[in-house]
Amino acid sequence: MAHTLMPRSYELHDVGLKPDARYSVTLVMQIITMRPREEKRIKEGHLWVNKDDLSHDLDVPPGTLVRVSTFDGASMGTGFYNPLSKIAVRLLACEEEEAGTAFFVKRIGQAEALRQLVLPNEEGYRVVYGEADLLSGLIIDRYGDYLVMQMLSAGMDVRKQQIIEALLTVFPTCKGIVEKNMSQTRTREGLELVDGVVWGNVPERIQFMENGLKLEIDLTTGQKTGYFLDQKVNRAMVAKLAKGRTVLDCFCNVGGFALNAAAAGASMAIGIDSSALAVEAATRNAELNGLSNCTFEKANVFDLLRDHLAEDRAWDMIVLDPPSFAKHRGALRGALAGYAELNRTALKLLKPGGILVTSSCTQPVTEHDLMDILYRESARVRRRLRLIYRGAQAPDHPVLLAMPETQYLKFLVFEVAEA
Ligand code: SAH
Repeated sequence: MAHTLMPRSYELHDVGLKPDARYSVTLVMQIITMRPREEKRIKEGHLWVNKDDLSHDLDVPPGTLVRVSTFDGASMGTGFYNPLSKIAVRLLACEEEEAGTAFFVKRIGQAEALRQLVLPNEEGYRVVYGEADLLSGLIIDRYGDYLVMQMLSAGMDVRKQQIIEALLTVFPTCKGIVEKNMSQTRTREGLELVDGVVWGNVPERIQFMENGLKLEIDLTTGQKTGYFLDQKVNRAMVAKLAKGRTVLDCFCNVGGFALNAAAAGASMAIGIDSSALAVEAATRNAELNGLSNCTFEKANVFDLLRDHLAEDRAWDMIVLDPPSFAKHRGALRGALAGYAELNRTALKLLKPGGILVTSSCTQPVTEHDLMDILYRESARVRRRLRLIYRGAQAPDHPVLLAMPETQYLKFLVFEVAEA
C-alpha cells in the first residue's frame, strides 16, 4: 500500500520504567451509554462525548478506558472516561481494549509519518496534535533531540509512563523529555499543574533551526512548549515580503517574525513583547544569528501602538500575532473588540504601500470574523486594502475535519494600496 501513511515498524524500547500500578491490572471494560440525541455528531467523527450526552455515570477512576455504546447497544469505540470533566469521554477512534505502550507506539508512529510527509527534515515541529492525531488530550512537540509533552486529559495523564516509553521507541535518539503541564485545561480535568524533566537530561536552554535561523529557547520557563511552532510557514511568508522594509513585530515572543524579517533583509525590525523573559530570549536569538538590524523591547503593544500614533511614526510592515483573546464563545464580543482596536491602530501607522500581517489564534474567531473586522476598520480609517495571502496553522497542526475545534489559527496579509 504505497499511498497509506505507514509508520516504520518499531522495536519496543525497554527503558525500565515501572508501569502505573493502578492500570496494570486487566479490568473487564466498562460500557457507558449515550443519549440518542448526540449520536449523530459522534457517528460523523467527533471525538468528545460530553457529560450531558451520557445516560449514566460510571464509578471508575479518572482516565479509565471505557467503551461507548449507542442507546441501541452499537459500539462507538473506546475512549478515556473522566467523571470530573465536562468532556466525559475522549474517544480514541478505535476498538482497542487497552491503551498501553504498543498503542501509543502505533499512534505516535503514524503521527510522525504524517509530519515527515508534510514538513520533512524539520528540527522543530509538533509531532502529536491531540485530537487531530486521534490522541485526544496529548500534545508532543519536538526540538531536535528533545521532546516536550503536554497531557490535557486524565486518560493521557495516568498513562505518562507508557507515553514516555512509546516516545523513546519512536525517537530512539531522544536525549530528554520535558513535561509542560501548566495549562488551565488541566484544572478543568481535575489534574494538577506540573512541569519538569521526566526522562533523560535537558539543558537549561536548547537550540534548534527554523527557516534557516538558529533559535535558542527554554523548554521549562518559555511559553507554550517553548516556542510557537504553528507560525513556521507564515514566518517564511513574512520573510519574502520584508526586504528593505521597516518592520514592527507586535507580540514577538522569542523573536519569530522579526528575526525572519531581519534575516531576509528588512532595513530594521523591532519586536515588542510584554514578557521580559521573551524579550531577553529574542535579543539573544538576534545575536546568535548575527542580526544587527533587529532589536527587541518590553512593552504593552496596545500602549506602544497608541504612543507611536501620538508621535506620528510610520512603518512599512506591521505584524500582529496576539495571544488568544477568548477561550470560549461567551468571550467572543470582547475578543472581536480587541482585534478591531489593534488592527485599526496598526492600519493608521502603516505607510501607503505598507503591509499588514494580522493573525488570530482565538479558536472561536473565524477567518470570516477577522476579515470582517479588517473590512470595517479599513473603511473607517480610509485605507484601501488588498488581501495578498491567507494562511493558517502549519501542517504539523492538522485539522480533523469532524472537529472544528482543531482549527484555530487565522493569518491574513494585506497591502495598503497607494492610491
Ligand atoms: N509572534 C510570536 C508568538 C506570539 S504569542 C512568535 O512568532 O513566536 C503571544 C505573545 O504575546 C506572548 O509572547 C506574550 O508574552 C505576548 N503578550 C501578551 N499580551 C501582550 C501585550 N498586551 N503586549 C505585548 N505582548 C503581549
